[in-house]
Amino acid sequence: MNAASCKPTASMLYLIKKERTERQVKTILVSRCLLGDPCRYDGTSRPFPGIEALSERYKIVPICPECDGGLPTPRPAGERRGDRIVTKDGADLTDAYRRGAELALKKAKETGAKIALLKSRSPSCGVGRIHDGTFSGGMTEGDGITAELLKANGIALYTENDLSKLL
Ligand code: SF4
Repeated sequence: MNAASCKPTASMLYLIKKERTERQVKTILVSRCLLGDPCRYDGTSRPFPGIEALSERYKIVPICPECDGGLPTPRPAGERRGDRIVTKDGADLTDAYRRGAELALKKAKETGAKIALLKSRSPSCGVGRIHDGTFSGGMTEGDGITAELLKANGIALYTENDLSKLL
């Protein structure tokens, strides 16, 4: 396991610890890979342009359900098939994904976060559309395992494509 990839980076810590202001009235869960953390299955990140502006208005609580659920980085890609998460080779990763989802919900409850900005298309974080389970690049309607659990518990979900709506 590449433990370094499952710890917040210096730039991410800056956003998290930035001095609080009276404009930061809400707390938001944010997918760590969008904040620049190389925690994706292939060890890369997906820093989203302009996402740092969130720290002006929100207290950011970073989550990476796959790391938090105990999976290493890098790790085999998983896709959702019904209620299960499997790899291309057929390994079942569902338990780790569900553990990460429960921990994300726990963080939301502990911090009072009612909003989450999650990485689109991910089998954990995807909102509305995710990979279709065929490992062919196809997409289907549905939520990732974490997104689904957060939504069921009243958390309002956004993806990086909705950033402007939150600012
Ligand atoms: Fe982690 Fe979610 Fe980003 Fe995947 S999409 S790397 S689970 S934060």
